[in-house]
Amino acid sequence: MGSVEADFSSSVIWKDSPKYEEARVGRVFNHRRPDRYPRAVVEATSVKDIVNAVLLARELNVRVSVRSGGHSWAAWSVREDAVLVDLGKFRRLEYNEETSTVTVSPSTTGRILNGFLTTKGKLFAGGHCPDVGLGGFLLQGGMGWNCKNWGWACEKIKAIEVVTAEGKVLTCNKDENTCLYWAARGAGPGFPGIITAFHLEVRDAYSCMMSSTFQWPISKYQEVMDWVVKIAPQCDESVEVVSVGLRPDPTKDPIILAGFLSFQNSEEAAKKSLSVVNETRPAGTIMEAMCLPTTLEKEYCAQDLANPHGHRYTSENAYIENDANVSEVLREAFTTLPEGTKTFALYFAMNPCSRREPSGMALSMQSDHYFALYTVWEDAKDDERCQTWVKDVMAGVEKHSVGAYLGDSDFQVRRTKFWGDSQARRLMHVRRDYDPEGIICGYLDQGDKSGVAGLDNVFEWQQRPEWDLTSTL
Ligand SMILES: Cc1cc2nc3c(=O)[nH]c(=O)nc-3n(C[C@H](O)[C@H](O)[C@H](O)COP(=O)(O)OP(=O)(O)OC[C@H]3O[C@@H](n4cnc5c(N)ncnc54)[C@H](O)[C@@H]3O)c2cc1C
Repeated sequence: MGSVEADFSSSVIWKDSPKYEEARVGRVFNHRRPDRYPRAVVEATSVKDIVNAVLLARELNVRVSVRSGGHSWAAWSVREDAVLVDLGKFRRLEYNEETSTVTVSPSTTGRILNGFLTTKGKLFAGGHCPDVGLGGFLLQGGMGWNCKNWGWACEKIKAIEVVTAEGKVLTCNKDENTCLYWAARGAGPGFPGIITAFHLEVRDAYSCMMSSTFQWPISKYQEVMDWVVKIAPQCDESVEVVSVGLRPDPTKDPIILAGFLSFQNSEEAAKKSLSVVNETRPAGTIMEAMCLPTTLEKEYCAQDLANPHGHRYTSENAYIENDANVSEVLREAFTTLPEGTKTFALYFAMNPCSRREPSGMALSMQSDHYFALYTVWEDAKDDERCQTWVKDVMAGVEKHSVGAYLGDSDFQVRRTKFWGDSQARRLMHVRRDYDPEGIICGYLDQGDKSGVAGLDNVFEWQQRPEWDLTSTL
C-alpha cells in the first residue's frame, strides 16, 4: 500500500494512530456515536488527495466513505472497514460576479457561504442549521431557507466536479456527464462518486428580514395546526412557514409554536407580507412577537439553540399526503414529546414548491406537508425510551405519508419511498453504471448490505421491486 500512500500531501490516519478516534467521529454532529470503524481516515486537502484516497481504497480492496460537514444524523460517513475521506480541510470558495455563481467545496457550511456572499450583496438558501455541510445537504435536495417558495437548493446547482469510483476527475453539468449531474440533485448518500466542488447560482440578498412568532399551550394544538395548514398557502412568496411542538422547559408541558419569516427589501413590504398571519392568529397565545426585525445570523443562532451540540439525536420524517387531516395525523407527535428531553416536532409548509413538477433531477419526492421529528437527549440511558417513542409515533404517521426526505432519514431504521418510481429505477442504474464494484459506500441500510443495488424505494409493507439492472438507461 506504500505506493499510493506516499503520494498524499495530507496524512493518512490509520486505526493505531492516537489521532484515529478524533478523525473517526470528532466532526460528527450526533453524539450517539456509531459502532463502526473505518480502516483509515484521509483528511484531504486537495483533489489529488481525494483521487489518491480512492486509489488507496482500491489497492486495499475496501470501500470509500465521504464526510463533508458531518451532519448526517445517522453518521453515514462512518463505515466499517472503509477508507473515510474527510473533506473538512479541503476548502474552496470563489465568487464569479459575471455569472452570479459561487464555487464551493462540499464542507463549506451555510454560515460560511452566506458570510462570504453578504459582502457581495448575495444569498444562497443553504440549510437552516449554520454548520450543515453543503455536500450532504445539496445531494439530498436541500430544504433550505424559504424552500416552500424558492424551491430546492439543488435546483441552483449549475455544475459539479467529481472524483469517480475509478479515481477519474469529471465535470458534470447539463451538457457533460449528464447522468451524474442528474443524480447529484437528489441521490443523497447514494451518489456514486465524490463531489469536490459545486458551482451554484446565488440570489440577491434581502435587506429586510422580519418574523412573526406565536406560542400557545398545547391544549390549543388542533386549532393552531389547522390554522397553520390553512394559512400557509395564503402567505406570499416571501414567507417561510413552520409550526413546532416543543417543551421550552423539558420538565413541563409542551407548547405549540408557529413561526413566519419574511424575506423582503423594505419594512413596509415585510409588514404587509406578515399581516395575513398577524390578523388571523388564533386567540389564547402565551407569547407573541409580531414583525420583529431579524437577520440570517440571528436565525442561525436560534437554530443552534434548538439543535444543541454534544447531544444524542435521532431524526425521522414523512411527507404527509396533500389531502390528509394533518392535525389529526401529527397529534401524537406534537403532544406527547418525551419528557425531560429537548425533542421537537416540526411541520414545514411546502406548497407551492410541492406543486411544481420536479424535472431534470433525481429529486422527485415531495408533498404540501413536510413533517420531521428531532429527538434530542443527553444520556445513553434514554436511548431506548427515545427511540421507541419515535418508532411508535412514526407507525401512525407513515400510513398517511407518500414518502420521506433523505436528509432526515435513517435507512437502518425504516424503509420507505424517497423518489418517484421511475427516478428511483434510473438512479440505481446510474449508481451501477458509475460504480459497478460498489467502491463508494452508498446507502447505509440495516447491516450496511445495500451495496450496488441501492435502496428499494418501497414502503415497509411493500414487496421489493425487481430492478432490471441489466437493461440500459
Ligand atoms: C442540526 C441539523 C440541522 C439540519 N438542518 C437541515 C435543513 O435545514 N435542511 C435540510 O435539508 N437538511 C438539514 N439537515 C440535514 C442535513 O442536510 C443532512 O444530514 C446532510 O446529509 C448533512 O450534510 P453534511 O455534509 O453536513 O453531512 P455528512 O455527514 O458529511 O455527509 C452525509 C453523507 O452525504 C454524502 N456526501 C457528503 N458529501 C459528499 C461529497 N462531497 N461527495 C459525495 N458524497 C457526499 C456521503 O454519503 C456522506 O456520508 C440538518 C442536519 C442537522 C444535524
